[in-house]
Amino acid sequence: MKAEIIAIGSELTCGARLDTNSQWLSIELEGRGWTIQRHTTVADDRAAMIRIYQEAAKRSRLVLITGGLGPTLDDITRDTLAEAFNQPLIEDADSLHHIESLFQSRGREMPERNKVQALRPENSVSIHNAHGTAPGILMNLSDPECTIAVLPGVPTEMKRMFLEQLTDHLPTSTVFVKRSTVRTFGYGESDAERLLGDLTARGRNPEVGITASQAVITLSVTARAGSYDECDMLADGVKEDIRTRLGDAVFGEGEIELHEVVGQQLLDKGLSIALLEGPTTGGLIGQWLTETEEIASRVSYSRLFPTAMSLSNTATPDDKEAWEPALRMQAEKLLDDGTADYVIMSSPTYLVHESGVRQQKGSVIVAGKNLNVIQDVSMTGNLAIFRNRAARSALNQLRLHLKSL
Ligand code: ATP
Repeated sequence: MKAEIIAIGSELTCGARLDTNSQWLSIELEGRGWTIQRHTTVADDRAAMIRIYQEAAKRSRLVLITGGLGPTLDDITRDTLAEAFNQPLIEDADSLHHIESLFQSRGREMPERNKVQALRPENSVSIHNAHGTAPGILMNLSDPECTIAVLPGVPTEMKRMFLEQLTDHLPTSTVFVKRSTVRTFGYGESDAERLLGDLTARGRNPEVGITASQAVITLSVTARAGSYDECDMLADGVKEDIRTRLGDAVFGEGEIELHEVVGQQLLDKGLSIALLEGPTTGGLIGQWLTETEEIASRVSYSRLFPTAMSLSNTATPDDKEAWEPALRMQAEKLLDDGTADYVIMSSPTYLVHESGVRQQKGSVIVAGKNLNVIQDVSMTGNLAIFRNRAARSALNQLRLHLKSL
């Protein structure tokens, strides 16, 4: 069944505040079987609000509205809702009593203006707000058939009202929805899409979505079925298909990060790692691999060197022939004396300008028994993103090697 969410407030449309309510509600609704087909953010504009409610009610079985329930003149959600569906506003006795007693309990007199918060369209019910003054509104329309619920804008109040007061009154969806994710590294977004082919076509069940962040491609698999078990079955089939098509690029499921996979591999195999990081990874790998005490126990040595000169007196950052032997010599020592089974090293960085484009360059080296890979990393964009990609590339090399053991 289709749902949509309307976020009200000029503070949202002007950019002063981010609409986090719609994000949260979408996740909640999707988990309850709803398909969220639209988010609308609208300023406190009477005509626009009325039009948006009417259109949404025609399109969706459920419309959730947040914000604009306060007592001030710019809080016009109540009035516009009544006007949109040709209903008078009436005072809700229970709500008024609740608001009055809230002020009393705070030892304050209720300002006359707060009375408006007890108003609701005639054919609706108030939703009790146990955590603030603004009651919500629940309205069931028959033509078009649509349930409209209005919740406070304040995120904490909105969430509690949704969970504690509203969920039992929503139409029940017979469809169960389950979302899972597959994490991959090694392909660009368009390459991944090409390899996945028809799996990413819209309108399929499960639906496969692609998002890219910091060189990791995440595939979200959304399955809809009559039960969660059926969702799992459908999703498992598609995930198997993804693994077949993307092979070793798949490194895990859920929220897992590459370094966690590598850390686990090192733990499982009882292997250790040494890190010699220059500005190309800037200590990121060391940071990641020491996030937990358990994985950190596999890091037997970690050193951050600041410049090419700190490797060799004559090396400049772009002179790979000068710094690479120096770096490798240190790594060999760590491997030979048994300090670690593997070493990840990263180089100094340097900038080049090619055809007016500024590129950051550097290399990562991964070495150990039967492993000796050097990978050049080159990127436009900022240093943080470059480092992230370089660090993940190195970890991915080690992951693939450890997987093959
Ligand atoms: P109040 O009783 O406080 O007036 P309200 O229901 O009228 O509540 P608003 O006045 O619209 O809600 O917003 C109250 C607060 O909640 C503001 O700080 C606003 O920025 C925040 N807020 C409103 N809508 C959202 C949203 N969609 N996402 C995140 N924050 C929001």
